Amino acid sequence: MSYGGIEAGGTKWVCAVSDGADELAAVQTFATTTPAQTLGRAVDFFAVHRQRLEGLGVGSFGPIDVHESSPTWGQITTTPKPGWEHTDVVGALQDALKLPVAFDTDVNAAALAEGQWGAGSGLTTFCYVTVGTGIGVGVMANGTLLHGLIHPEIGHMRLPHDRVRDPFDGVCPFHGDCWEGLASGEALRERWGCPAYENSATEAWALEAEYLASGLVNLICTLSPERIIVGGGVINHPGLLERVRVRVRELLGGYISAPEVTTTDGIERYIVSPTLGDHAGVLGAIRLAQLRALQ
Ligand code: ZN
Repeated sequence: MSYGGIEAGGTKWVCAVSDGADELAAVQTFATTTPAQTLGRAVDFFAVHRQRLEGLGVGSFGPIDVHESSPTWGQITTTPKPGWEHTDVVGALQDALKLPVAFDTDVNAAALAEGQWGAGSGLTTFCYVTVGTGIGVGVMANGTLLHGLIHPEIGHMRLPHDRVRDPFDGVCPFHGDCWEGLASGEALRERWGCPAYENSATEAWALEAEYLASGLVNLICTLSPERIIVGGGVINHPGLLERVRVRVRELLGGYISAPEVTTTDGIERYIVSPTLGDHAGVLGAIRLAQLRALQ
């Protein structure tokens, strides 16, 4: 038997089928348009493979309702993405495909996959951070994906914002200068007037390193992760990850007494790149489906 997985992102959806290992038997990627059109394309893709599917997993952009006892479970809730507010993702897929559907955030799904097959292998408490168009963080805590009131929305935490150094108001429609508002790819584009991948200004990347390091320090102090995996397009800027590691050590100030965060060698193994690349999200969605079937 096989499982289906959807990485339901705000800009693209990745649909795939797998037998539950880290290899994909079929995969299709398409742009996120309207809910009806996007869900319709996903249903069309899985309908072809329906006979061999035992379940479906979805890792979605959000915020989403992850509580199965809630009347709005399976929905995208307060997203700023036009047209997607209160979209019943799980309901639409269940109705069309008659399959059980597992549902979590896109970043929790990616964390699950990296823990199963990638950079978080063997760990029980770690974070998966993505710095792309937005900023998101998936959290594995004591072997379980972290949920609570809803689920972590760490991309929206507040950071020190020195308005003399950086007068930019931020781009988050809900908070302005939250972490995502100040340090996402969209924030870089708005602040500097060009896409992040075209930006070579030293000042821009020094500021970016400061915000990313501040955010990671907060993760280290609150969740005590055994490792932090940092992916997404923005972090690929040459030298940025190295700079973030140095600044994290400086900001921690030697307070947390572990070689992972006090030594150069340690922090290179502590703040790392993902190993599953672009497929972490969809592989995690497949793993969500598999875990649900095994329950
Ligand atoms: Zn925000």
